[in-house]
Amino acid sequence: DKKVVLITGCSSGIGLSLAVRLASDPGKTYKVYATMRNLDKKERLLDCVKGLHKDTLDILQMDVTDRQSILDVRDRIAEKRVDILVCNAGVGLMGPLEVQSLDSMRQILEVNLLGTIQTIQAFLPEMKAQGQGRILVTGSTGGLHGLPFNEVYCASKFAIEGACESLAVLLLHFNIHVSLIECGPVNTDFLVNLQKVELGDLSLQQVDTQTLSLYEKFLQHCGSIFQNAAQDTEDIVKVYLDAIKSPSPAFRYFTGGVVPPLTQMKITEPDGSQCIRAMSELIFSVEEKQ
Ligand code: NAD
Repeated sequence: DKKVVLITGCSSGIGLSLAVRLASDPGKTYKVYATMRNLDKKERLLDCVKGLHKDTLDILQMDVTDRQSILDVRDRIAEKRVDILVCNAGVGLMGPLEVQSLDSMRQILEVNLLGTIQTIQAFLPEMKAQGQGRILVTGSTGGLHGLPFNEVYCASKFAIEGACESLAVLLLHFNIHVSLIECGPVNTDFLVNLQKVELGDLSLQQVDTQTLSLYEKFLQHCGSIFQNAAQDTEDIVKVYLDAIKSPSPAFRYFTGGVVPPLTQMKITEPDGSQCIRAMSELIFSVEEKQ
């Protein structure tokens, strides 16, 4: 029997690559339900599988903020079960906190946090009844340590850590494994899709000059990190496959292969001050040191 996989956010990026890889698995091990909020965007995924794999791939509409769309997908799964649930959909929000509207902050939390949680909620009873399952979540190093100008995004990703860790403890008793695939920068549409306050935006007129110059530095740092250190989606997919194939998967996978130094520092220096200083130096460079 094929393993039934459901993935959220498959119109681009990590979700798309993972759907393509699993649907085209040479052993035909997986039946993939690739879901996306907007089916008008399915061409890219279809192009990648070149119209093949009709027996291993189904594309369905699902908006993780819309409970009914999640339930509709659940009803359309022919096998009536999901063995591997991949919660991947997510969006970013970047800019000085004082200009973020309540609506845009709410939207990020709706998608990243509540969207992930309500997707898991919908498939959990069935997985518990099966007495087995995998829940994999695309996590972020922004869920492990804070990033300036990403307060709400980090809040959403930190929250995911808490939700997943809590669930993992309980689900041990149901033979359901929860794993976070912790990504650093990845070459995807993420930067294009995120809600970002641009330097020329009118809203920035109300922001003090020091914040503005730090934001400019941050954007430069961010640009160079994505240019020089970003991983490709294939690298992330490999880590996903490790987790999927492992008989006893870890709770956290770091896609870079090692625990990032700043994450390590949080453990060895739990009072936090060194970690915060190190992050500031990393992003704003030594000139800002006081
Ligand atoms: P991406 O923008 O290409 O993919 C995100 C996908 O989520 C898109 O297909 C988008 O349409 C979808 N999505 C957004 N809102 C949705 C909704 N309401 N319902 C369903 N789908 C929705 O970027 P990506 O990098 O592939 O992002 C995937 C995940 O990886 C996200 O959770 C993101 O936070 C995480 N991540 C990305 C990076 C990075 O640098 N790219 C780093 C760390 C973590």
